[in-house]
Amino acid sequence: MKKEFIFYEINKLKGVGPQITKYLKKKKIEKIKDIILNLPYSETDRSKIYKLNQLEIGKIQSIKVQIKKINFPRIRNLPNKIYCEDETGKIEIVYFNSREGYLKKLFPINEWVIISGKISYFNKKYQITNPDYVTLLEKQDYVIKNIPKYSLTKGINEKKYRTISEQVIKDLPKIDDWLDIEFIKKNNLIGWNECIKKLHSSKDSQNNQSKSFRRLVFDELCANFLTLSENRKRIRKKKLQKKFNDYDEKLIIKNLPFNLTNSQKIVLKEMNSDLKSERRMFRMIQGDVGSGKTIVSLLAIINTINSGYQCAIMSPTEILAKQHYELAKKIFSKKDINIDFLTGKTELKKRKIILNNLINGKTELLIGTHTLFQKRINFKKLGLVVIDEQHKFGVRQRSDLAKKGGKNCDVLLMSATPIPRTMMMSLYGDMDISKILEKPAKRKKIITLSKPEKKIDELWPFIEKQINMNNQVFWVCPLIEDSSFLDYSSAKKKFELIESKFKNKVGLIHGSLKKEQKQEILKKFLEKKILILVSTTVIEVGIDFPNANLIVIENANKFGLAQLHQLRGRVGRGASQGTCILLFKEGISKNAIQRIKILKNSDDGFYIAEEDLKLRGFGDLIGYQQSGIKNFRFADPVNHQELFKLAENFIKDIGSVDDDIKFSFLLKLFDKAEIINSD
Ligand code: ADP
Ligand code: MG
Repeated sequence: MKKEFIFYEINKLKGVGPQITKYLKKKKIEKIKDIILNLPYSETDRSKIYKLNQLEIGKIQSIKVQIKKINFPRIRNLPNKIYCEDETGKIEIVYFNSREGYLKKLFPINEWVIISGKISYFNKKYQITNPDYVTLLEKQDYVIKNIPKYSLTKGINEKKYRTISEQVIKDLPKIDDWLDIEFIKKNNLIGWNECIKKLHSSKDSQNNQSKSFRRLVFDELCANFLTLSENRKRIRKKKLQKKFNDYDEKLIIKNLPFNLTNSQKIVLKEMNSDLKSERRMFRMIQGDVGSGKTIVSLLAIINTINSGYQCAIMSPTEILAKQHYELAKKIFSKKDINIDFLTGKTELKKRKIILNNLINGKTELLIGTHTLFQKRINFKKLGLVVIDEQHKFGVRQRSDLAKKGGKNCDVLLMSATPIPRTMMMSLYGDMDISKILEKPAKRKKIITLSKPEKKIDELWPFIEKQINMNNQVFWVCPLIEDSSFLDYSSAKKKFELIESKFKNKVGLIHGSLKKEQKQEILKKFLEKKILILVSTTVIEVGIDFPNANLIVIENANKFGLAQLHQLRGRVGRGASQGTCILLFKEGISKNAIQRIKILKNSDDGFYIAEEDLKLRGFGDLIGYQQSGIKNFRFADPVNHQELFKLAENFIKDIGSVDDDIKFSFLLKLFDKAEIINSD
């Protein structure tokens, strides 16, 4: 068989007509390679032939019997019956809606046949209704064995699917393995052809540590990582180098009310060298909430402006954008820099002026929401785009973004979602990463407490004290299963309760409010018109509420560790001591207790993310859903951690995939070829 065959549509296979094609499509099986990757989830044991006095009702069993008689009642709703025997007993084979001629051929009177199917018992007789297999003795080898079990769909039974998949698996084209034998041996893997065969004919597909399964995982990881590294090459094209001296940077740093942390200094150095380099920057700053990413990005901005380019900061929300705008004005106050603020709400007249100033180059820094990336917005000479809190961007969006800035535009992303080491490559393999590991020196560690919910009354005096000191409180309400209505009603009740204790000081924010309404309430909170904010949803990432120093989280075990850590990071950003209180219902699991412990003992987001991964698996991790990690069909960062590392190193050693046909096969196998060739 030719190699290319596996990328043909399935209707090229024998026995696959339009109807079957339609059914298989429901299972996302469209090409022949999809059959290869559709692994059995179990096996049906038909390997033993049972005597009729050994039958077990409800089990799938194989029998060897002689056909005695066929009865076609020719009355609607009455089934056709075939009476069979062996030397130990009798059984009836029952067919509804089957054609007479077909059955006569299948069951020649007096012949011995092999039948396999589910044993039932009716009217004191053993029966098999619509058996899975009926075959003559000379062909019994096809049936008497363990048969792989695939998840099937209406219209396709085991027998049918077998005829389809066996055509493919038996006749796999010989491919040039992209792994060499030494590598395969050394890393406890297996050759590709053998791997596929085994996965479809043994229990290997059910054991995620089997050599064959590991091989498939490795291939999947390589396909993903290769895509990212190719993407990276595409983005990091040549650009004009930015030339600047660091006079302004130094001046700004000198005037800050604090010293930069070591991490901040390192990141700054990395960014500056990117700006000066002849390759476009595509860098992500990862740092916990409050680690001070913003100031670092502003320093990169001043350097870019000084090299004669314009800059833009894009924030996920208006409030956050506004906060950046105020900060930028303050930081750059000694310099005469033209800063503009643009969101969806900017009046038309003003908008026109701003757009005009962008084109003629008067605006040097534009700060705003995603509006900045609308088609109609054009810069004269954009040199740097900073995107805040956008860990949710997928690979494709990132590459679109990079294109949009133009060929001399550097790109800097900032995210407060710490990613476990294992997943770094899968998520951000196309970017350079700078990590801010230290917290600003003066910040006090947030005190984390846990309390059973029934002791809630003990909290009121504490809250009262905070409010009297003019501090502010977040109250995050139960996350109840998936019902946004219940979430809302319970938040509302809690709001009423708290409001009754602290009149006119409480606000409520929940998911069903309009975006503007939410922003309005957050603004009130920021301006201290309300002191306690009850919320159902996660309080927006990134906003600096310097006065909030207490956060109460109800039903805390419903949240992931990383998410709790993020929530906790909302408080204690100002000078006063921050506190986080986790409320729990009675009788939480051991696992939940373990998680509280981790949170109490650590305030290192990266460590917490690792632990979260171990305890909950990656499926639950907040924020990773949209980021491409779900693309893995076989790989699991918890179970295959070492393969992640192996694949990462493997990819680093490969040059360009363009010259290597082997890798194009791999990329096509995992539907990645299109992403790479989409330029
Ligand atoms: P994030 O990384 O979450 O975006 P921010 O940049 O908003 O954090 O910084 C949080 C707060 O910490 C700000 O008020 C900022 O002025 C302050 N900050 C930043 N760097 C330092 C530092 N090195 N020392 C002390 N405070 C700092
Ligand atoms: Mg921030």
